[in-house]
Amino acid sequence: MSGVAMPRPSEETLERRAAIVAALRAIVPNEGVIADDLEMRAYESDGLTAYRQLPLVVVLPETVDQVSRILAYCHANDVKVVPRGAGTSLSGGALPLADGVLLSMMKFNRVLDIDYDNRTATVQPGVTNLAVTQAVQHRGFYYAPDPSSQIACSIGGNVAENSGGVHCLKYGLTTNNVLGIEMVLMTGEVVRFGGQHLDSGGYDMLALAVGSEGLLGVVTEVTVRILKAPETARALLIGFHSSEEAGACVAEVIGAGIIPAGMEMMDRPAILAAEDFVQAGYPRDAEALLIVELDGPAIEVDHLISDIEGRARNNGAFHIRISTSEEERAKFWAGRKAAFPAVGRISPDYYCMDGTIPRKSLPLVLRRMRELSEHYGLRVANVFHAGDGNLHPLILYDANKDGELQRAEDFGSDILRLCVEVGGCLTGEHGVGVEKRDLMPSMFDEDDLKQQQRVKCAFDDKHLLNPGKVFPVLHRCAELGRMHVHAGALPFPDIPRF
Ligand SMILES: Cc1cc2nc3c(=O)[nH]c(=O)nc-3n(C[C@H](O)[C@H](O)[C@H](O)COP(=O)(O)OP(=O)(O)OC[C@H]3O[C@@H](n4cnc5c(N)ncnc54)[C@H](O)[C@@H]3O)c2cc1C
Repeated sequence: MSGVAMPRPSEETLERRAAIVAALRAIVPNEGVIADDLEMRAYESDGLTAYRQLPLVVVLPETVDQVSRILAYCHANDVKVVPRGAGTSLSGGALPLADGVLLSMMKFNRVLDIDYDNRTATVQPGVTNLAVTQAVQHRGFYYAPDPSSQIACSIGGNVAENSGGVHCLKYGLTTNNVLGIEMVLMTGEVVRFGGQHLDSGGYDMLALAVGSEGLLGVVTEVTVRILKAPETARALLIGFHSSEEAGACVAEVIGAGIIPAGMEMMDRPAILAAEDFVQAGYPRDAEALLIVELDGPAIEVDHLISDIEGRARNNGAFHIRISTSEEERAKFWAGRKAAFPAVGRISPDYYCMDGTIPRKSLPLVLRRMRELSEHYGLRVANVFHAGDGNLHPLILYDANKDGELQRAEDFGSDILRLCVEVGGCLTGEHGVGVEKRDLMPSMFDEDDLKQQQRVKCAFDDKHLLNPGKVFPVLHRCAELGRMHVHAGALPFPDIPRF
């Protein structure tokens, strides 16, 4: 942790570090290798700032060949590697290791190809999420997954975390929008999964790689789907006296077969923080606010808006506004998109959680969260991707007060256990990283975790790529043995010929 006097590294460590730095400089010349402690400070943490660690060295390659040679060297010399994009991860996925190389991919920042006929864009992994849309919007296209961090986060990071955003309810997560990747394995071997088409033969290795949190390989190229921008998009702001009413409205809309482009919910503390920050026009007296966006042909959007308006009133909505211009629609979203920094203004620190629950459990989970908030003596503001049940409770605390960080972490762990208890899961889009690593056994038993590690071993036989993330216990690959899917030999199926 920063601010704590670190013991002086041993002579042996210093010699090993010097050898690694020299080897990396032979691969990536000049300012592409950073070994100065002061200069490495910028890399000591990611979006999960409660955790900090200086890496052994930072390397910023510019070509696939350099990435391949770096990984091959590290593999041959048993050096750990942590891949990094823009460093906005909220689960500590890009947290450096004291004895590991931090491999920054931010020099891979070029859009390589745009194929409007195929509706694809091929980009390097350091390109920001928003830059993909910016590269194609003059032709009326866009890239659908839109994390709130889209101005900064990289496509490589999005692939590693399988990131989502407000429009993922209708258009899917990163995994539904990536068609192909190039990835360098720990041995230095360059592989390609998927391509420019919707399906490839063989096992779906692309699906395995998306969401693998930098544990299977380093992504060096990504081909994504681009979509034609909808003819119209309009949003509704809907205020309720209780989150139960808002939850019931969400369930009714989805149950009726309507899939809005986005369906977000905020509770009162989040509404007030956002309204004070950006004056989006949110009803300050609402206990729960829904922001619902519909897109498509104007006639369809108009019809769905009046349908949802009716359903909202039936469920007790007391405040409904419908955007009448693009500016107003953007304003409705501005509060939600700025919810995290808005909460940062009302508390010295906040801890952003990310869990998923079945939509019908929302009222129960909110009630239990209020009880936990009282138990821990910490406030919580809630923003949700309500349509897909992905919660983002923001726990407010002050790291300068003794024990508050620990209480915030314990509170967060209880929330995530609660998500699993009601049939949900530990993460919706931020990944496991270091943050949720020790909670993995609440969701997976020992056999499941070992099976997952066997997959990891097929890619990284020495556990050198991003170790310490995701798995609470690491087993040597040789001890894990081969994956057993079925105990006995399977009879060869008799395939009839016609
Ligand atoms: C204010 C704020 C709002 C956010 N909102 C959202 C949101 O709405 N939705 C959402 O899903 N997330 C959100 N996030 C989380 C974060 O932005 C995403 O997880 C994002 O995808 C991380 O991208 P990055 O480039 O910053 O990756 P990093 O933080 O640098 O790395 C994240 C993980 O990806 C791995 N990685 C990075 N690049 C590569 C690569 N080229 N090859 C292999 N592995 C790699 C790293 O090892 C690490 O495990 C938010 C974060 C912040 C700070």
